[in-house]
Amino acid sequence: MTARTHDLTAISALVIIFAVTSISPVRMSTVILAVFANLLGGIAPDIDQPTAPFWRNLPIGKYFGKVFDKLLGGHRFLSHSLLGLALFGFLFHLLLIFFHPVMADVNIKYVWWAFMIGMISHLIMDSLTKEGVPWLLPFPLKFGFPPIKSLRVTTGKRVENWIIFPLILLIDAWLTLHYSSHIVYLLHQRIV
Ligand SMILES: [Zn+2]
Repeated sequence: MTARTHDLTAISALVIIFAVTSISPVRMSTVILAVFANLLGGIAPDIDQPTAPFWRNLPIGKYFGKVFDKLLGGHRFLSHSLLGLALFGFLFHLLLIFFHPVMADVNIKYVWWAFMIGMISHLIMDSLTKEGVPWLLPFPLKFGFPPIKSLRVTTGKRVENWIIFPLILLIDAWLTLHYSSHIVYLLHQRIV
């Protein structure tokens, strides 16, 4: 899937989970960092791709992209597996602990979960594509849904751009229309 589909899915998943789970109230600083972490998690697995927007937007990103591509075993390998999810989760946790002293009022547990929700949504969305995802590395088989490859989506092509992306937008719009007062109430309760 493309970066914009991953970002849209990641933030949609975060808002839904934030609205329906009974979490304790958080500060606005936590919400802002959680959204940033969520979007980062939503595109993080594609750092194994030198052409990813993640790298394209940095001045010498293309070279870093090539290094990470080799380091992570090529595109859709380690960073697109449960093992990679655990590794990225661990590293992001270390990063949050390192920066916690300068952002003491931020609930880093929620920021970490926001990152993980973004990353999990990425792996689920990539599973809908023809290429599939090696969920169970080091077992190298790539899994996808539906299991028949020809029924799956080709990244960046018509089905993704004209069906999947608008469909997620429609679901978001429907949820907003039908549950807006409920969502606003919950956000009001949970952001202090
Ligand atoms: Zn990917």
